Amino acid sequence: MGDCELCGHEGNLISAIVEGALLRICPRCKEYGDVVSIPKPKSFKRVSTKPLVKEPEETIAQDFAIQIKRHREKEGLTQKELGENINEKESFIHQLESGHLTPSLVQAQKFERFFHITLIENIEPYDGPKKVNINFKDKGVPFLISTLAIFFNISPKYFGAKP
Ligand SMILES: [Zn+2]
Repeated sequence: MGDCELCGHEGNLISAIVEGALLRICPRCKEYGDVVSIPKPKSFKRVSTKPLVKEPEETIAQDFAIQIKRHREKEGLTQKELGENINEKESFIHQLESGHLTPSLVQAQKFERFFHITLIENIEPYDGPKKVNINFKDKGVPFLISTLAIFFNISPKYFGAKP
């Protein structure tokens, strides 16, 4: 609220550049200048560096070990033969199928190409459960004050109160 610096009209004002000067003017006068958006000071607080839209994350399918084993057996390949086909060691295949190892995305892509299957999934980002805001100001402070009041009323002598 304030007075328009051009016409003196009282009301909600907007910032505008009029003939090179930054003025506070009313909406009726905005045609005389270029309206600029000036954020209020509180807008500068808590500027998030995180992107507003999260990218989906690529992750290996939960059942990749089962999938690899099943497709390998379907193709009639031993772990060693599969390893040779995708240029990985037999022990690597064994550890994957037994669930002792998680393949990297690059390694998973080798299996995807070889078996023509999908092992890499796009997981939509999950923000977790909504946080519950507990207002300690409302609950904690009166409790603290009442506790102190009771304590002081009952035993003021412990604090050297004069009789
Ligand atoms: Zn005005």
